[in-house]
Amino acid sequence: MFPEFTLRYARLPERFYERFDPVPVKAPRLVAFNRPLAEELGFDLGAFDEHLAADWFAGNAVPSGAEPLAQAYAGHQFGVFVPRLGDGRAVLLGEVTDHHGRLRDIQLKGAGCTPFSRGADGRAPLGPVLREYLISEAMHALGIPTTRALAAVTTGERVFRRVPEPGAILTRVAASHLRVGTFQYFAARDDVEAIRTLADMAIERHYPHLGELPEGERYLALVEAVQARQAALVARWMGVGFIHGVMNTDNCSIAGETIDYGPCAFMEAHDPRTVFSSIDEGGRYGYGNQPWLAQWNLARLAETLLPLIDEDQDRAVEKATALIQAYTDRYESEWLAVMRAKLGLERQEEGDRELVESLLEAMQAGHADFNLTFRRLGDAVEPGEAEAGLLELFDARDGIEAWLPRWRERLAREDVGPETIAGRMRAVNPLYIPRNHKVEEALAAAAERDDFAPFEALREVLADPFTEQPGREAYARPAPPGEAVFRTFCGT
Ligand code: AMP
Ligand code: MG
Repeated sequence: MFPEFTLRYARLPERFYERFDPVPVKAPRLVAFNRPLAEELGFDLGAFDEHLAADWFAGNAVPSGAEPLAQAYAGHQFGVFVPRLGDGRAVLLGEVTDHHGRLRDIQLKGAGCTPFSRGADGRAPLGPVLREYLISEAMHALGIPTTRALAAVTTGERVFRRVPEPGAILTRVAASHLRVGTFQYFAARDDVEAIRTLADMAIERHYPHLGELPEGERYLALVEAVQARQAALVARWMGVGFIHGVMNTDNCSIAGETIDYGPCAFMEAHDPRTVFSSIDEGGRYGYGNQPWLAQWNLARLAETLLPLIDEDQDRAVEKATALIQAYTDRYESEWLAVMRAKLGLERQEEGDRELVESLLEAMQAGHADFNLTFRRLGDAVEPGEAEAGLLELFDARDGIEAWLPRWRERLAREDVGPETIAGRMRAVNPLYIPRNHKVEEALAAAAERDDFAPFEALREVLADPFTEQPGREAYARPAPPGEAVFRTFCGT
């Protein structure tokens, strides 16, 4: 039933990882399984056996052909460099080839203490596992590049965080687990050969067109390619109010996927200063800072590649600096493209940026829900009754009332009619996002009462975020007063 493994990472020299078999758990039980993804990865579901699957996804049985290992990496955590982090509880089984011919990593997260555990327990509580499952799959349904969730199992064991919780393991699927921190691990050891090996692997897996460039150009081009994907990724996050929460360099993927869902959350009322993570006391990873943190992370990547960018280190620094500075323009244009689409604009006009910014200001002044504002703007392309549904999101309306006529005047210069504009807005502005109070409710039911019904219901709603689902209005609404979640805990 398990697809055949291609062991790419396991064939790298030994200093890239520690061989490590998952530590068996007491009583594995499969609590979530992603059939469409399993099919895409080439699992034979005709022979699907829930008990065997539970054993595999718990690490109690290692599928044949897998050579489990824990990857080595370093990373800047909240700006502080840690030269040896590594997979403290994750185990890479190997890579499989999906239906599109792409290699995908299959990793068990929460599989026991590895040589990188640094005194922690190597395990994961059920809450954070289900949280990553829900939010990563929601991101996928929103069309945003992300790692995926293939399965979740409970272990029959308890893990101790703030309170004892049921233990669980997430099976995560990624384009790869190469991170900025993987490069930093070897840069900290002056191991240029390892950096070249990693860079060549990243090019082969994620940017194969760069393989044709002469060596002297290839590695700067790699930084540029990663930068392009990160700029596009963060612009997409900003377009749905997503706050990652821990944009450390070890959580910055070379493939450009959203990775490592810890204290992440979606903003409700628009405010660029929004921070949810309880461990982010300085607000470093707040909503509005994300674009510039990605740039900072990319600068760290470029530093590791300097020896390969140019033999003359001054010239290498010059080239890398120019490239990292170009991020600003690249990000701005990605962001503007996202925001134009959200406002139903296809043509590009000079005043568009200002139009977007003044809407965001009006939203902030009126404490308007970020995602619902855009969704309901799509109903208010023309003046009429639907406008009331938009205005009710604002507790101060001067800004939005002044803004609407300006937007409609701008829409009149699009080449299509109001129906078409409304339709394309509905296709990019989600009605359903993982609302924090709904996520918390689902996790609590599972962890406290072994009741997975709210999790299943939420997962179903989030799988189709752009289509109105009758009877599921409650999932679209912001938290009622008193239920809003202002803090999310890493507790992972
Ligand atoms: P994260 O904050 O999840 O990105 O993790 C940062 C580092 O801490 C990584 O090296 C993880 O492997 C490690 N880590 C996080 N939680 C645990 C745990 N429960 N046991 C062992 N290592 C952990
Ligand atoms: Mg991490």
